[in-house]
Amino acid sequence: MTGEQLQPARPDRPAAPAAVATLARPPFLDDELTWLKGVGPRKAEVLARHGLRIVEDLLHFYPRRYLDRTSVTRIADLRTEMGEITVVGRLLTVQVKGFAKGQRCEAVLADGSGRMTLVWFNRVAWVQKFLQAGDVIAASAKPSFYRGWQFQHPAVEKLAIDETEVDPDAPSQAPEDLNYQGQVVPIYPGSEELRRAWLDSRALSRIIRGLFQRHRVEPADPLPPALRRRFGLVDLASALREVHLGRSMEDVERARHRLKFEEFFLLELMLAWRKATIGRAEKGLQFDRDSGLVDRLLDSLPFRLTAGQRRAVDEIFRDMRSPHPMNRLLQGDVGCGKTLVALCAMLLCVDNGHQAALMAPTEILAEQHARTLIRLAEPLGLRVALLTGSRLAAARRRALQETASGLAHLVVGTHALIQDEVAFADLGLAIIDEQHRFGVEQRARLRRKAPVLDTLVMTATPIPRTLAIVGYGDMDLSVIRELPPGRLPVTTVWRRENKRPEIFRFVREQVDKGAQAYVVYPLVEESEKLDLRAAEEACAELQADWLAGLPVGLLHGRMKAAEKEAVMRSFLEGGLRVLVSTTVIEVGVDNPRATIMVVEQAERFGLAQLHQLRGRVGRGADKSWCVLVAGKALSNEGRERLETMAATQDGFVIAEADLRMRGTGDFFGTRQSGLPEFRIADLLRDTELLIQARDAAFQLVEEDPGLSQAPVLREHLHTTYADRLARVED
Ligand code: ADP
Ligand code: MG
Repeated sequence: MTGEQLQPARPDRPAAPAAVATLARPPFLDDELTWLKGVGPRKAEVLARHGLRIVEDLLHFYPRRYLDRTSVTRIADLRTEMGEITVVGRLLTVQVKGFAKGQRCEAVLADGSGRMTLVWFNRVAWVQKFLQAGDVIAASAKPSFYRGWQFQHPAVEKLAIDETEVDPDAPSQAPEDLNYQGQVVPIYPGSEELRRAWLDSRALSRIIRGLFQRHRVEPADPLPPALRRRFGLVDLASALREVHLGRSMEDVERARHRLKFEEFFLLELMLAWRKATIGRAEKGLQFDRDSGLVDRLLDSLPFRLTAGQRRAVDEIFRDMRSPHPMNRLLQGDVGCGKTLVALCAMLLCVDNGHQAALMAPTEILAEQHARTLIRLAEPLGLRVALLTGSRLAAARRRALQETASGLAHLVVGTHALIQDEVAFADLGLAIIDEQHRFGVEQRARLRRKAPVLDTLVMTATPIPRTLAIVGYGDMDLSVIRELPPGRLPVTTVWRRENKRPEIFRFVREQVDKGAQAYVVYPLVEESEKLDLRAAEEACAELQADWLAGLPVGLLHGRMKAAEKEAVMRSFLEGGLRVLVSTTVIEVGVDNPRATIMVVEQAERFGLAQLHQLRGRVGRGADKSWCVLVAGKALSNEGRERLETMAATQDGFVIAEADLRMRGTGDFFGTRQSGLPEFRIADLLRDTELLIQARDAAFQLVEEDPGLSQAPVLREHLHTTYADRLARVED
């Protein structure tokens, strides 16, 4: 019986959308997986739960790794000093031995050069069920010698059950002479559920191989031939074939290289296209009047802008004066003085008769910004309105009115700014602070408060170059690298919990000499109540004991706005000497007289957060300290974070370390940042390729903005990034 007869008839497919139909696209790419040999409805269901619904999904389901002869060791060549290695062979026997505690599963593996034993002391029943004599497997572990060569608890991949399932094109494999010379075995990502449905790596490989053997898999290539030639990339059809069926690692690598390039290239092309589209729009505001408001502000300051601030202001002004809308990211480490740069931009906007808005992620930060703006801009005759969720009704109504009538020149706020009831008389500039804390949608809503406006987003989270390229490739970038002069490095140490008496004795000493201190407790949403109680108790304890007699204040997110405001003001004015707080202060709070930062249970914070917290001190001319207190449960990774903090104060170094430790997915602590996930490319390893692809994409859009020379590419872009391209039209 041939498998073909078991296949259901191909269901009539609905008419493909017009855009797709024009492509030379093999029709079966859109077929359900049940269309394939070896996939019934039950398997299709399991596959669908793993994101594999149509044939095309399966083509892009790439092997996680490969076994080839260079990574396979012959049993005859085993040595005790070897690390983890892989042996490929056939199982001669699989037996359960011993009783009770001594029970184990032993299997004998032969590869033509010798025999060895595989031993499992646990999951005996499972192993015995999973492995049968006759199976061809790859087993990986560190070899040991005990009455012959042995692997204990090896990782095992089943490669084939019997000859009929081995690649018919492969060199013949006599049972006792099984060498994988010249053969590459793809290992697909797996899961317990897939395995239970008989869809292990071997089965997936067989299904995919079958697809290639029975059909011409030649989808149109989105990469134009000239581009492929320039970068030495194989065409899509060969790449797909070789990534699954490659006969040598060279073939496989060539295919992977091409697929990675494509992934980066398409993303960057979308960004380049968006950037070009936004930049070309002629309808932007042109802030070309200057009656000296900015100069008057700068003259009123007791210091001069740093070179970095100067440059950022110049770049921003150039954008604002041009007829195209500004879409710029201002990046600079904590304390480098971004607020002032933002204020310069706001003043230029006001000088041209428009309002400017500044949106911050927390109330405390919005209030602080409002204070700064009031202090610096009111003497220049400007009016500042503050809009936050928790302002009292009367104050809120007044702020709304002033915003709508145009009486307020500068409007500062939290998310409250983007509520429907907020109307601006004439908004010309939107500034978003700590923008990674806002979602794409929130940013878009602020932009919709005016028919056209300039946008400046600011972030103190140093973004590694690779992430900036993929996450913000459609924005122009200004970076402030230096801090204002005279800042001393913050001495940073980490200590175990049992050192708290010494730590707080030190805090007390410093506070007695006039310093101000922060003591920060972690607070996570899931355990918010517990965390809050811990912070409150700790505060009471400090007041009763180590910090007795000192004015200590408590600040947390559950307090009413007015209470928070009062505590914050008192701390800023110096009345409160110590501020015990949950992480509500982590971004932006600016009290130059605070010189001590104690972080409790510091291992519970991410590196970026710790860096932000440390940024709260060392903002004035006095020497500052940051003490990270490690709780009882300190993992290796937690320890590495604390050590990184103690070793460097360079935000970019910390960001790179963070990226290395956590991977790209969690970098911003939130997935809404819009960073894409890659199927085959790896942002950390394939940086060079990313930069090549980025340059090529931007160059292509510059030469051929409508992509008229690359129709397949244009369509591919539209189908892949429909949602993100649409946002340009917002
Ligand atoms: P951030 O970039 O973290 O938002 P801020 O704008 O809060 O930094 O500035 C940090 C502190 O540095 C503020 O107290 C601000 O007044 C001060 N500052 C800003 N620019 C300068 C400068 N050029 N010289 C000296 N101090 C400055
Ligand atoms: Mg700031």
